[in-house]
Amino acid sequence: MEKLAIHGGTPVRSRPLPPNYPGAVVYGSEEAERVSDVVLAQAPFRYYGAKLRHAVQSLEDAIAHDLHTPYALAVSSGTAALMVAMKALGIGYGDKVIIPAHTFLATAGAVVCCSAVPVYCDIDESMNLDPSDLERVYDDEVKAIIVVPILGNPVDLDPILAFAASKGIAVIEDMAQSCGVRYKGRFAGTIGTIGAFSFQMNKIVTSGEGGAVTTADVRLMERAIRYHDQGGLRDRARYGIDSPDEQFAFSGQNYRMSELAGAVMLEQWKKLPGIISAMKRQHDRIAATLRSEIPGIRFRSCPDDEGCIGSNLGILWPDAETAARFNQAMSAEGVQSYMLYGGKPVYMLPALFHKRTAESRHSPYDYPFKRPVDVHEQLCPRALDLIPRATYIPISPILSDQDTTDIIEAALKVHRLLRLPAYS
Ligand SMILES: *Cc1c(COP(=O)(O)O)cnc(C)c1O
Repeated sequence: MEKLAIHGGTPVRSRPLPPNYPGAVVYGSEEAERVSDVVLAQAPFRYYGAKLRHAVQSLEDAIAHDLHTPYALAVSSGTAALMVAMKALGIGYGDKVIIPAHTFLATAGAVVCCSAVPVYCDIDESMNLDPSDLERVYDDEVKAIIVVPILGNPVDLDPILAFAASKGIAVIEDMAQSCGVRYKGRFAGTIGTIGAFSFQMNKIVTSGEGGAVTTADVRLMERAIRYHDQGGLRDRARYGIDSPDEQFAFSGQNYRMSELAGAVMLEQWKKLPGIISAMKRQHDRIAATLRSEIPGIRFRSCPDDEGCIGSNLGILWPDAETAARFNQAMSAEGVQSYMLYGGKPVYMLPALFHKRTAESRHSPYDYPFKRPVDVHEQLCPRALDLIPRATYIPISPILSDQDTTDIIEAALKVHRLLRLPAYS
């Protein structure tokens, strides 16, 4: 008699599947040689050094070229990319920024650290921002919308761009989890006003830490460069900028990328198309099999199947309890399936819920907004309902066909033996 591993049966999988680090698991001699070249050249800083290798500059050129956008700036993290993007737009004290209720805490944290206040917009079954909720949360103190394609799933940008244009506000694409995602044939991150990428280890391509900002607007790029480099603009010729410093300078941060990270990222970047096609092939195979074998199974919705990178297979269950039972039983079978962020909207995190900041006085939340920013549990009811019902199976770029077969087998076995209720 077939028995689930949680009930003492034999797990489908005894050898562990590859870890959930799509970029790091394809590290090889390419990254090692490139970074070793920078070390041996004794040139770890991007802007000067006797034998400077220009790894960071080459990375920026490669990103801009491959994403078909005019400008890319490498920075030290995805959070830094968000900060730089907002400061390029001039966002600060007294401003509100709309973000989705479902995202990593860094999206909200960056807004607060920019001295602005996050306003939470509900999500839909794509698990991304629901364009139809924008009108409800918007007021004229909002300066930008940050959209976040969650775990490789494109955001339905057209209605969001139309809304933003009608209000004259910016759209920032937080691409941290979804490098390489496309929407209607264009690379996400280059479609809104400005894009922010992360190269931290959990993301699609990685240098351990790192990030990038992309834009088609040279004025925004100048401000981004300045904010990330203490207000300075070192290579004007590269951007065809000849404005005098005195007029445009402001105080900035140091969010520069080191040449060591740049060297690794330059080689990682070349691997992005291969990583995506490998993930997508296995993702689509698992999805197609589950769809035909499990009547009524429901995946998170996708506004552009072509543009999804397949890094995670998102399943929506009829209720949170079923989702939790599925995850638990899958783990016992040796196949990871997880719920994101403790199953809660981002605003339920204590720092955001209680509006706590590092400042002892003059917190961004203290600004006398015309319409005060309210945070309470029922703020975004669809997010509250959907997030704990969504489970994700990570899809590594190095899954073998046998690995994928095991993932499918585990999901079918769990579904069959747990007699999970179908989506109605
Ligand atoms: C990871 C992540 C970030 C932050 O990136 P870091 O490189 O870790 O600073 C921002 N937004 C989202 C949605 C993320 O997943």
